[in-house]
Amino acid sequence: MELELTDEQRLERDTFRRWFTTELEPRVPEMERGELLPYGRMRDMHVGLGLEALSSSFARTTFMVEMSRVSPSFALSYGASTGLFGANVLGKGTPEQVRDWAVPVLRCEKVGSWGLTEPGAGSDALRGMKTTARRDGDHWVLCGSKTFITNAPYADVFLVYAKAQGGDVDGSVQAFLVDRADPGVSTGPPMKKMGMRGSPTGEIFLDDVRLPADRLLGGGVRQRDHVKSSLAVERGGLSVLSLGIAERCFEIARDYAKTRHQFGEPIASFQLVQQRLARMYVAVSNCRRIVYADHIAGRKVRESVADVCAGKLYCAEMGTFVAFEAIHILAGNGYMEEYVVERLARDAKLIELGGGTTEIQILTIARAILG
Ligand SMILES: Cc1cc2nc3c(=O)[nH]c(=O)nc-3n(C[C@H](O)[C@H](O)[C@H](O)COP(=O)(O)OP(=O)(O)OC[C@H]3O[C@@H](n4cnc5c(N)ncnc54)[C@H](O)[C@@H]3O)c2cc1C
Repeated sequence: MELELTDEQRLERDTFRRWFTTELEPRVPEMERGELLPYGRMRDMHVGLGLEALSSSFARTTFMVEMSRVSPSFALSYGASTGLFGANVLGKGTPEQVRDWAVPVLRCEKVGSWGLTEPGAGSDALRGMKTTARRDGDHWVLCGSKTFITNAPYADVFLVYAKAQGGDVDGSVQAFLVDRADPGVSTGPPMKKMGMRGSPTGEIFLDDVRLPADRLLGGGVRQRDHVKSSLAVERGGLSVLSLGIAERCFEIARDYAKTRHQFGEPIASFQLVQQRLARMYVAVSNCRRIVYADHIAGRKVRESVADVCAGKLYCAEMGTFVAFEAIHILAGNGYMEEYVVERLARDAKLIELGGGTTEIQILTIARAILG
């Protein structure tokens, strides 16, 4: 399924594609090896593409799809900083928090990070949370640690979840704005990972971090729904990454199949190869329908929690499926770094885990559809 685009939309897509292909792609190998951090390129991108002007939902989605086609790990780091930190604070913060914390991150002047997961609390992040925020006079004192946090090793600012002890919000999970310079804050080194290697991941340690009361996001009345709505945004964003991966892998495999000859014929003429390509196309086409639902409908499509989880589950599985099928079609070449699909396949798997594993999506869908 090809999207119907206006001339303006086509121009937008082509502009993004050109920028990512010429300005980002040549630096991806250095980023994957951990020799170059993604944040400088994010600032260049923000200026080069005039991102303040990204007003339509089509432009925002296409921007992320095009970024993910080239580097899902860059998209993961950018999404964690500007989406999970920046957009979250923009949507839920007080006017002062928006000005002082969200705006610099949304402009890529600072790097943001979003810390929910803990060593003992992943899928069960809320109930299992051990990090506490103790009310002490006009201050909050945070104690605990977070792990597997995107951008943590280098972020300037963190949105950290903790269980409040005392104050009006006693017993609830709250989000706090934390600065790297706050006494008691430290981070671990970048973790070594299967994929998403261009996106630094690490731990955050909070050792009696004393914060003024105005660091509580939104001024203090957000409870469980806050985490839920953040997770919905994250899940929608991760589906977009999977679409970018699936699109690129499908195209690489299709083009390769048309030019690679065996037994005197292009491998695309073999029905067994055609079947793989056709199934890959089914997946790409369906992911596109999910990710571009608003564009196709010509209006904002309201999605229930079950729909968001269904979209994330499907796109994540299909991203991995298409990427591994691409490796199979390219065979020996597919297994080599040079042909890109092996990197995209390693990156794709993360999307089945982050933002809630497949099992957590299934449990949430089941709860929602059964009432
Ligand atoms: C590269 C990377 C980046 C990340 N970035 C961030 C970030 O920026 N911020 C952040 O907060 N977190 C982040 N995460 C953490 C991620 O969200 C968690 O890894 C994920 O939620 C799963 O938690 P866990 O790893 O502790 O697995 P666990 O919860 O220990 O799950 C282990 C297995 O048990 C299954 N399982 C658990 N509970 C159930 C159940 N009730 N029924 C059936 N099966 C179950 C799971 O599906 C999984 O297969 C990141 C992770 C990675 C790998």
